[in-house]
Formats: sequence, structure tokens, C-alpha cells
Amino acid sequence: MIEVIQGDITKIPVDAIVNAANTSLLGGGGVDGAIHRAGGPEILEDCKKIRSKQGGCPVGTAVITTAGKLPAKYVIHTVGPVWNQGKSNEEALLASAYLSSLKLAVEHEVNTIAFPNISTGIYRFPKQRAAEIAMDTVQQFLAVNAVIEKVIFVCFDGENLEIYRELLKTVR
Ligand code: ADP
Repeated sequence: MIEVIQGDITKIPVDAIVNAANTSLLGGGGVDGAIHRAGGPEILEDCKKIRSKQGGCPVGTAVITTAGKLPAKYVIHTVGPVWNQGKSNEEALLASAYLSSLKLAVEHEVNTIAFPNISTGIYRFPKQRAAEIAMDTVQQFLAVNAVIEKVIFVCFDGENLEIYRELLKTVR
């Protein structure tokens, strides 16, 4: 089941929320900053442990940490691509960010998961195309995986909300 809502992802009580992180895993602006601020220092501590093991999080991959003080159980940190006029394999990398997050969620028996609109903020990925990729990737995954029962797309801005609402009509 796929839902689309407008809101702040740090407030959503699901098994896992996804963070649009950067490769350093050391926090940043946008949704990343909001998650670390609201979740407290435990999330960054986990991120630093992962960094010391694997040296960051490559674009298109994902890692999982505690959710600290957030109402979720886990934060899945994934790194979307920076938009570069479509010249740097951005579409495949964005799909990979969603897919890696979903796979990691299943490994941790996550039944409900919330995604922000990865790469559409500071990374400037065109919103319509990003939403199509997000929706396609999630839909295809749900068709063959029973562990995840609910995926919530949490839109922060009204433009993304409208785009996702329209796309959701085509899914049903
Ligand atoms: P990126 O670097 O991947 O573009 P950003 O954090 O800049 O990441 O933006 C990703 C999306 O997250 C944007 O659509 C932005 O509006 C949205 N966003 C920012 N803060 C929040 C929040 N608290 N909850 C949900 N989405 C948010």
C-alpha cells in the first residue's frame, strides 16, 4: 500500500524513516538536518561507527541506524545523486537509492516505511522525474515483496505533494 502525505518526516510513527543523507553521513541541511536535530546525537554516533567501518555511504546505497528520540524505530540513510543535467547516470542512481533503502528495510523486518523526496532539495533533481522514479521503484518492489506493508511518501513542499498525488492516481 502506498500513501502520500504532506508533512515533516521526523514526526511519522513508522518502523523506518528514510533520510536523504550525503556520502559523509555526518549530517547536512534539509531533511538530514531536521532528522539529526529531532532525533538527537545517537543517530550521529551510529553514523560515525558506520563511517569508521566503511568510510561513508556511496551514492545510490543505504545504511541503517537507530532513530534516537524519533517516533520511528530506525533511520535508513540513503544518498541520492546530485542532479547534473542528466549526464551522470542520475536516474539509475536515484532508483538505486530507493531500492537499497527498501532492501535494507526488509532485512530489518520493517513493515512500514516513510520516504522524503530524495534529491529534490539541495541536490536539484527535477521533481516530476524524481517522483516517477520513486513511485515506479516502490511499486515494483511492493509487487514482489510481502514484508513491507506500507510506504508513505512524505512531501514537504506543495509542489511535490501535487506531483505525488497525481502519480498515485495512476498507481491505483
Ligand atoms: P537532497 O540533498 O537529497 O536534495 P534535501 O534535504 O535538500 O535533500 O531535500 C530532499 C527533500 O526533503 C526536499 O523535497 C525537501 O523539501 C524535503 N524536506 C526538507 N525537510 C523535510 C522534513 N523535515 N520532512 C520531510 N521532507 C523534508
